[in-house]
Amino acid sequence: MVEYEAVIGLEVHAQLKTRSKIFCGCPTTFGADANENVCPVCLGMPGVLPVLNKRAVEHGIKCGIALNCSIAETTKFDRKNYFYPDLPKGYQISQYDQPICSNGHLTIDGRKIRILRAHLEEDAGKLVHAGADGLHGSDYSKPDFNRAGVPLLEIVSEPDIRDAEHARRYLTELRTILRYLDVCDGDLEKGNFRCDANVSVRPFGQEELGTKAEIKNLNSFSAVERAIKFEIDRQTALVRSGQKVKQETRLWDENSGKTHSMRSKEGARDYRYFPEPDLVPLHIDRQWVASIEKTMPELPEARRERLIKDTGLPNEIAVVVVERQELATFFDEVLALGAQPGTARAFLDQALACYNKNTGYTITESIVTAQNIKDIVCSLDSGEINTGTAKTLMTELMESSSVGDAEAVDIPTVIKQRGLAQMSNEDELRSMISAVIAANPKQVEEFKAGKQKVREFFLGQVMKQTKGKANPKILNQVLDEELAK
Ligand SMILES: [Zn+2]
Repeated sequence: MVEYEAVIGLEVHAQLKTRSKIFCGCPTTFGADANENVCPVCLGMPGVLPVLNKRAVEHGIKCGIALNCSIAETTKFDRKNYFYPDLPKGYQISQYDQPICSNGHLTIDGRKIRILRAHLEEDAGKLVHAGADGLHGSDYSKPDFNRAGVPLLEIVSEPDIRDAEHARRYLTELRTILRYLDVCDGDLEKGNFRCDANVSVRPFGQEELGTKAEIKNLNSFSAVERAIKFEIDRQTALVRSGQKVKQETRLWDENSGKTHSMRSKEGARDYRYFPEPDLVPLHIDRQWVASIEKTMPELPEARRERLIKDTGLPNEIAVVVVERQELATFFDEVLALGAQPGTARAFLDQALACYNKNTGYTITESIVTAQNIKDIVCSLDSGEINTGTAKTLMTELMESSSVGDAEAVDIPTVIKQRGLAQMSNEDELRSMISAVIAANPKQVEEFKAGKQKVREFFLGQVMKQTKGKANPKILNQVLDEELAK
């Protein structure tokens, strides 16, 4: 049987974080009343002129640098013509043949995904369908133009992705980069990070690409993954049975877990692109690019590599930590305060677990400070407290804490006040052990008869008496000595 492989390319629309829209001064605030953030320019009134937002261009350049793209020396804007009720001008100002960024790449898990281009454009408005707001049975829609003219960067990958998981990793990485750059909120639910997936299949070893379908309406990373999986299976079944895949746009339906046909796909020719006559071509000064480059933060890939190298963090954990910038920064602070990386790492795992189990506060939202973690880690390393106590302290801090509702906790004081310091006095432990052995002759007999498990019983008894504070190393050693008598 012929085996097939999937060929996937992703188009991401990232809303750039600017205070005003890309071609007018209207605010970009999310959640404003319908048609509150509009003016003659973004409503497409006759005779108005667009003025380019410098910050949007700067954000575009930043992204291009982070994605290893060439930044165009000259870039221009074009009109993409189509009719839709949410597009009052009848065209969208976008970039056709001279995008601001081109020929970049991202490396994910050692695999390179090429980026064809990234270009600036304006967003369209949106239609609120009556019925959605409780008007059942209504058959009209209301346009809201608040989003019209909001700056977008469309980032188009080459079809270098081969499976759904990899697609998800690419998107997560891209979003993390945009968040590190502070140019996009990356919130799929609010629609400021949107993704379309182009999927086709072809027999293994074949160069030529199969016919692709474009999937839209992907509102979460899990939707992206599931939709791509479904589409690969659908197309593979079609070509296996000798049928053809149609070039079309398909919508993902979250409820049925399927994609369905929306419309046949337009080609670039249908849009009749032509240069925007109201905007002059933009020359991007190399000095400007260089000055932006100087402001670039450490990017996720470099940060992961550093964490892995400095602390021996496993790759999977590094991915999760670096994805949450505030957590990575917190961890850096703990290390900078002088905690041993190896021990600190163990607490990072626990911090992640606490986050998952409890109310949803992350460690950075809780009252737990880097100093707290550093104190716990150092007390553990010096042998002042044992692992059990350290875990209890950490869990207590995480579970009891919430945003700003508690006083700052000083760990050395807590250890002293609650008498949590580890019991390491050998004589003291020995007398406790002797007492436990004397009080349990039956268990001693069982142990001598070869029942090794009884040893745990003795350990447990002494731990209980010391309220979990016995130094496990000394306890084990003395117990063996006493049992051997
Ligand atoms: Zn406006």
